[in-house]
Amino acid sequence: MSNRVQDVAIIGGGIAGPVTALALHKAGIRATVYESYPSTADGLGGTIALAPNGMAALEIVGAADAVRAVAEPAYRQAMAVGARRVAMPALAGVEPYQVVRRSDLYRILHDRATAEGIAIEHGRRLTEAREEGDRVTAVFADGSTVPADVLVGADGVQSTVRRLIDPDAPGPRYTGMLAFEGVSPFEVPEEPGTMTFAFGKRGYYIYWPALGGGTTFGVNLPHPRPMTIKEARAVPSREWMATLLDVYGEDVPGGELLRHLSAENLRVTGALYIMPPVPHWYRGRLVLVGDAVHAPSNSSGQGASLAIESAIELARCLRDVEDVSEAFAIYERTRRARVERIAARAAKINHAKAPGPVARALMPVIMPIFLKLVMKPEKTLGPDQRYRIDWPARPGHDRTR
Ligand SMILES: Cc1cc2nc3c(=O)[nH]c(=O)nc-3n(C[C@H](O)[C@H](O)[C@H](O)COP(=O)(O)OP(=O)(O)OC[C@H]3O[C@@H](n4cnc5c(N)ncnc54)[C@H](O)[C@@H]3O)c2cc1C
Repeated sequence: MSNRVQDVAIIGGGIAGPVTALALHKAGIRATVYESYPSTADGLGGTIALAPNGMAALEIVGAADAVRAVAEPAYRQAMAVGARRVAMPALAGVEPYQVVRRSDLYRILHDRATAEGIAIEHGRRLTEAREEGDRVTAVFADGSTVPADVLVGADGVQSTVRRLIDPDAPGPRYTGMLAFEGVSPFEVPEEPGTMTFAFGKRGYYIYWPALGGGTTFGVNLPHPRPMTIKEARAVPSREWMATLLDVYGEDVPGGELLRHLSAENLRVTGALYIMPPVPHWYRGRLVLVGDAVHAPSNSSGQGASLAIESAIELARCLRDVEDVSEAFAIYERTRRARVERIAARAAKINHAKAPGPVARALMPVIMPIFLKLVMKPEKTLGPDQRYRIDWPARPGHDRTR
């Protein structure tokens, strides 16, 4: 009789959790998702840009078309330093980044899971996991328990499962920035489908013409300490607006985007964290996926896409490799080099996003060189965006990229 994994408990109903469940279902393995939030209500808000590799991975679980139907494609990217603008090179023959509202992405994944008969239980906060023989029991804050063959930690950057696997695991590193988003009635001159990464005098922001008119923008605010969404939302929007205007007021078009936006339409989307390399991706019957094990800085534009890829790779390994520790080892071997390479590069870019006075003065000089040397699209972006998972193939024989 096969000892293949039969049932999996997935902790976290964000992005990696439902995708893992869908991929396991496709592999013929039962999975249930346990999410601590009491409802599907989107706690974070904001938008997510899905890279071509992330979209290709979503294709495997049948969710890509539903995303495309509601997404705004970003066909072009540009970089602006003060008044100086440079068009960023793009890869030929890949689909554009697809920009979706986080709430739409959650809804699509949840609807898809429900359609496949996968349960997503809300109000279930995991606190502990007990392993006995070849079973693991998830213990929740309300005292309830759930037995499973495998427990997957898809519980985000503040992961509880990561600590259960290794109490000494590193925690997430705060980047020193809080993120805000809004749709300003101010119209920028750029063509629709153009995403601009702008270095202002004292900070960094990103903007693109919104499909329904106006301009969507995301702005990072240097802030000495991290805040939870709840704490940040307790601060009156007018106060945040005043602070943002202090940092970005003189930038073009940053200042105008903010001045045309009413304070109540400014949305705080969270403190930005990155994960340093995690020494142990799994232990016994517990394993990590998504931001819990690899959260690159948001400069990478790859966080969600890598989470989706890892979710699918994990399911592929559990489908084809009976021995759980061997399956986890192959999963880690397939994923670690890729996610750490992308995270390391994003960390460097992140550093340049909050330039000090000297770096700022040098930016107009550095930028063209930077673009020419570093942004050779095929060399730098090709391996990230052309990555495809060979779902039908047995894992373990892929080249690690
Ligand atoms: C402001 C901002 C902008 C971003 N923009 C982009 C972008 O443009 N493109 C991109 O690719 N990525 C972006 N990212 C990164 C992206 O959001 C993450 O990489 C992605 O959400 C990771 O998915 P996940 O499922 O691993 O984690 P999450 O989406 O964080 O989901 C984890 C889930 O686990 C639940 N949970 C936590 N603890 C427990 C517990 N103990 N029990 C049960 N449930 C629990 C949480 O409530 C949550 O729902 C951005 C991130 C931020 C903060």
